[in-house]
Amino acid sequence: METPTCIAAAVEDGSLIIALSSENRDFLISPSGNKLSVKDLEGKTIGLYFAANWYSKCEFFNPILSKAYIQLKEQGSQFEIVFVSSDEDLSCFKDFHGKMPWPAIPFYDLQSKRGLTKKFDIEGIPSLVVFSPRGELMRTDGVELIERYGFHAYPFTSEKMAELEAEEKARHAVQTLEKLLVCNGRDFVVGHGQQVPVSDLIGKTVGLYFSAAWCSPCSKFTSRLVSIYDSLRTNNKEFEVVFVSLDRDQEGYLQCFSGMPWLALPHNNEKSKALTRYFDIRGIPSLIIVGPDGKTVTKDGRNLINLHLEMAFPFTEAQMSFLQGKMDEEAKAYPHNFHHVSHQHVLNIVSANSGGGPFICCECEEQGFGWAYQCLDCGYEVHLKCVQAVEKESEENKQEEIDGGDSFCVVGN
Ligand SMILES: [Zn+2]
Ligand SMILES: [Zn+2]
Repeated sequence: METPTCIAAAVEDGSLIIALSSENRDFLISPSGNKLSVKDLEGKTIGLYFAANWYSKCEFFNPILSKAYIQLKEQGSQFEIVFVSSDEDLSCFKDFHGKMPWPAIPFYDLQSKRGLTKKFDIEGIPSLVVFSPRGELMRTDGVELIERYGFHAYPFTSEKMAELEAEEKARHAVQTLEKLLVCNGRDFVVGHGQQVPVSDLIGKTVGLYFSAAWCSPCSKFTSRLVSIYDSLRTNNKEFEVVFVSLDRDQEGYLQCFSGMPWLALPHNNEKSKALTRYFDIRGIPSLIIVGPDGKTVTKDGRNLINLHLEMAFPFTEAQMSFLQGKMDEEAKAYPHNFHHVSHQHVLNIVSANSGGGPFICCECEEQGFGWAYQCLDCGYEVHLKCVQAVEKESEENKQEEIDGGDSFCVVGN
């Protein structure tokens, strides 16, 4: 496997241009089927776009990339994209390429397409690999950058990235709930059968819940969030949730929302997409927590709920360090090593400071942080609470297994 450094070296001295041609071909093909000279790309910033029509993520990303490309062309930017297709047959290729305003490696040139995929170590599509006007590899995360910044990502230099990040920071510093939720004169969110002014939510802790009917982990998390929501509201906590739908159609949106007791943004792709970009949402379900002052408290609401349930509220750093202290205190009651009934090796207790990190519990399959029982041999890891739950059932074996564990550890070391 080539490292990024090797790739950068491999495409120096204009060899990207060479890589785009072949022995018998010095042209690319336009969407209408015309030949374009590869030499015309010299001196431009180039994005190699690896995609295929059979993959929904590509279908989704294509219009976003087209929009950015056209905007850059209109500005006169020296930017070009070359489509490297993994379509299955010529008619699929023609169909898909027809929706793109940029040239492609001809469909029949399998060798060039395979060569580029291998050379740039493409593991997933869509992928946009960006090269400087000198042919140097600049970014392999072009898809994420375009999704996040649109055409503003151009020219993809590290200076540009620093500038965009600073702008983003400044925007977040003046964030308010109205700025997040109000759109084109619509100053309300919807409940079940009524409209609720956004101003009613000010001063509350608000969870923006990014979810969709087509996402099965979402429905699992939704039912958990419903019970937390009900419990917090019963205890008069100033908590509200607003569903931000990533459903592609109204039907999915309504289906999803019907199972939620909270509020929602209307089904409006533009605002939902804008929020998805603004919070840089990479996967759903995702729960962004906005505090009573309108600023983001955490983007990690989902994991905090999974870990602490309603105790996570109000999701602040103060609450997290309180819970951390509580967990540290509770952890003292657990033995250093443990022979958990579901695992053949002895497990060691770890904390965030001693080799523990975010993990997925092998017992309950939920996210965990910090304290855990870990197997150094095979990476098996469980929550402290999960190992205890199983262990209770085999109380009689406990002492024996711990003793066995101790001696195992000594021998092992
Ligand atoms: Zn667990
Ligand atoms: Zn093990």
